[in-house]
Amino acid sequence: MQKQQLLYKGKAKSVYETEDNDLLILHFRDDTSALDGKRIEQLARKGVVNNRFNAFIMQKLADAGIETHFEKQLSDDEVLVKRLEMIPVECVVRNFAAGSLVRRLGVEEGQALTPPTYELFYKDDALGDPMVNESLSISLDWANEAQLARMKELSYQVNDVLKALFDAGDLILVDFKLEFGVFHDRIVLGDEFSPDGCRIWDKVTKKKLDKDRFRQSLGDVIEGYEEVAKRIGVPLS
Ligand code: ADP
Ligand code: UDP
Repeated sequence: MQKQQLLYKGKAKSVYETEDNDLLILHFRDDTSALDGKRIEQLARKGVVNNRFNAFIMQKLADAGIETHFEKQLSDDEVLVKRLEMIPVECVVRNFAAGSLVRRLGVEEGQALTPPTYELFYKDDALGDPMVNESLSISLDWANEAQLARMKELSYQVNDVLKALFDAGDLILVDFKLEFGVFHDRIVLGDEFSPDGCRIWDKVTKKKLDKDRFRQSLGDVIEGYEEVAKRIGVPLS
């Protein structure tokens, strides 16, 4: 399958059409952004690491019966996916407090959230991805009630599958973001799952091994991603 017209250049990935109207190619670039795209740097190997990481996770989710857009890894930094009509809402599940939750509510980083929480954010960099809820998402016609219920159900299923996977590598899945879209009337998991869109800590030392290394200028960003990959069995070469 060959790349055709560039459809969209995002902050981390470029999206290409293919000769099949139902399929797209995502190209994972080395660009890394923070502050809603206001800070951008190139991190060597990131595109390749995230592409392989994402392929591994999407396969695990498919094995668990979760429908994803993943079709086939095409190269080191490209994946073939189903073309979804994306719902402009980011779904965030949290097992422990971190990031915007800590900033918003003043709770301590690392506080356990029992049961895990579920939040929605409107995907709009210019507005800083503001928090929204299901009522707003319905009234603003981003998704209907049944679709939102399915997104929530699938997000919690993803959490169950991945919490166990990371736990087996002596890692804590702190939180993560998912994006869903519609494919022939079905809600399907899209975008990516990689250390760019989740928080992962070492179980014992609580060392951060995700994009917070970039956000907080901790150094060794991709080394952190590779450490996680190695521990959960992602083939990196
Ligand atoms: P951003 O848009 O936040 O800068 P990326 O650089 O990751 O993010 O760009 C990838 C874009 O592709 C995102 O807007 C995402 O919603 C979209 N996307 C991901 N998977 C699919 C898919 N299967 N079909 C259509 N669009 C998708
Ligand atoms: N996240 C993301 N993209 C976003 C916002 C958040 O991938 O645009 C991820 C982030 O990496 C974390 C989770 O969603 O794993 C929760 O993010 P949070 O709301 O704490 O926001 P942040 O502090 O990252 O701005």
